[in-house]
Amino acid sequence: MHPQPLDRIKALAAYSPGLSIDESREKYDLGQAIKLASNENPLGASPLVIDAIRANAPLAFRYPRGGNPELARALAGIHDVDPGVVAIGNGSDEIIDLLIRILVEPAKHNVVCFEPCFSIYPLQARIANVETRRQPLNSDFSFDFVDLLEQVDENTRIVFVTTPDNPSGHCPPLEDVKALAGALATNYPRALLFVDEAYMDFVPEEKGFSLLANHYLPANVAVCRTFSKSWGLAGLRLGYAVLPPELADGFWRARLPFSVNILAERAALAALQDSAFRELTLATVREGREFLYNGLQKLGCKVWRSAANFLMFRLPPEGPKADQCFQELLRQGIIIRPLKSYGLADNFRVSVGNPCENRMFLDAMTRILQAG
Ligand SMILES: *Cc1c(COP(=O)(O)O)cnc(C)c1O
Repeated sequence: MHPQPLDRIKALAAYSPGLSIDESREKYDLGQAIKLASNENPLGASPLVIDAIRANAPLAFRYPRGGNPELARALAGIHDVDPGVVAIGNGSDEIIDLLIRILVEPAKHNVVCFEPCFSIYPLQARIANVETRRQPLNSDFSFDFVDLLEQVDENTRIVFVTTPDNPSGHCPPLEDVKALAGALATNYPRALLFVDEAYMDFVPEEKGFSLLANHYLPANVAVCRTFSKSWGLAGLRLGYAVLPPELADGFWRARLPFSVNILAERAALAALQDSAFRELTLATVREGREFLYNGLQKLGCKVWRSAANFLMFRLPPEGPKADQCFQELLRQGIIIRPLKSYGLADNFRVSVGNPCENRMFLDAMTRILQAG
């Protein structure tokens, strides 16, 4: 017998990311391609970030400082919390993975989330040999927290909620999220409510929706943010969370000492300085979101209202099939995200691009739908 992965690893359906530009270029022999599949920043990276990476390139031979203390202090300052409760990871993905491993006993405890949801939660749970209990979303993609609570039991250690949600863009009222936190604290004090605010920056009235912006951080709540979206650093891999103090302590004991590299840390500090770039990003996304929403609706698509930097939509019933449309878009050099891996074979998610990309996408959709 050769060494073999565990059976549950062999059986995994691995995370299915959006196609990269290189992949689709190879497949379709494209010159130019535009990618609206992974909710990246439509303006690229801030010029201050690029300068910081260049300036710090000679440090590439050094190990980073353990614990990223400078970045933790900067983030603590922004959110008005103690630096000791800020967890920083190689993307939010690392934080999610690590919290499962430090909180949840394999083959005994469980985690709870909606169905569909961001696939990293159930995937990392599976890898850790942890059961995931799932509550279907309402048919309009809103959340029923009462039903979600029904899935929780004494063995639940994490409840995952994404707000605004991926892939629908739905954003539940702050009061509902607080009520869920309260109900969990009362009935299941061992369960952590993990609120993933990856897209919260794009909500114009953040104050009305975000736990973090309202500093609502009771002992059973963790709030996670990322540098991958509004800050434009997806390729550098950087996420952070504000955790209850004991969990933050556990996090830093368990995290690989150097998982956040020195250039990512320098780049994040530079990004935090560039408020003009950030404002421009948010304005670009808000305008583009409206433009795409109206354009897709005019084409007869069903489009869901989104608070994030993407829109979920479905083709009109009389037109071409979803798969045909996706392939045709690719042939025209445009990559969007089919939602088959979310169990939504008829739906797409398109990221808000820059004005030129948005127009090219809608022009291509017009050609495809009118030909079909
Ligand atoms: C994009 C995204 C993240 C960010 O993940 P990173 O690992 O920080 O790039 C987190 N949560 C959700 C729901 C996302 O869609």
